Amino acid sequence: MKIYLNGKLVDKNKAHISVFDHGLLYGDGVFEGIRTYDCLVFRLKEHIDRLFKSADAIELKIPMTKIELIEAIIKTLKANKLRDAYIRLVVTRGEGDLGLDPRKCGKPTVFIITDKIVLYPSEFYQKGLEIVTATTRRNLAQALDPRIKSLNYLNNILAKIDAIKSGTEEAIMLTHDEYVSECTGDNIFIVANGELLTPPVDIGALEGITRDAVINVARRHDIPFYEKLLRMEDLYNANEVFLTGTAAEIIPVINIDERQIANGKPGKLTLRLMEELKEITKTDGVKYAL
Ligand code: PMP
Repeated sequence: MKIYLNGKLVDKNKAHISVFDHGLLYGDGVFEGIRTYDCLVFRLKEHIDRLFKSADAIELKIPMTKIELIEAIIKTLKANKLRDAYIRLVVTRGEGDLGLDPRKCGKPTVFIITDKIVLYPSEFYQKGLEIVTATTRRNLAQALDPRIKSLNYLNNILAKIDAIKSGTEEAIMLTHDEYVSECTGDNIFIVANGELLTPPVDIGALEGITRDAVINVARRHDIPFYEKLLRMEDLYNANEVFLTGTAAEIIPVINIDERQIANGKPGKLTLRLMEELKEITKTDGVKYAL
């Protein structure tokens, strides 16, 4: 397997970065998780735009242009002969000394891993997922804005540990004032009274690329859609609940905190949106040839 590392393609076992890299020492960096479908990088421009936004927010200057990054991704996919892949694009503050000061770091480190995709087991897409509410609250947007996709994922990892301890795969994270924000690695939607609803990202959630794709589909098909503050009661009483994410795509949720959602089966609109998403993964992105 070839890894892109600072301008070169290197073998996986030679793809090393320094123990003084501030990405490792302090989680000082940003990243993207991207998917390819049959030689199409899904919504690649949107991912690159979000990466630059995250980098801007932490005052990290990416040492490549957007076009150069896109070219590097395609080059890595081709080198590994991957049609369907998961791409991890990472930019760290780079190598510095032991001290937080980002000015101590020379050049940012850029690396790209292209690998097989890890999804939830396929039965969950048919039967639906059981999830819980995490006891860990989402980071305050005024402290570390969850809209920044940074290497600092401990907040999410702690909530993931809550999920694992409850015997589930995913957990809902609430804001400090108990509004639903998102899950540890996915955005969340509900269907209630014929309306598709999701929390606004400014309460503390990542502006998911899949979330945005679902919203576009809803608008195109005149499905009533609103960003709305949601409480757990809204989720427990919803007609449908589903999660969205690059790795997860759209996955139905049928049980939260051991409470069954509606009839305990994936909902009609959820199934329709899953089909619609499958369609747009054939066209909405950047194509490459192997
Ligand atoms: N929320 C969080 C916290 C995430 O890490 C992710 C990505 N794994 C998402 C939502 C979904 O975003 P996207 O659709 O862009 O993958």
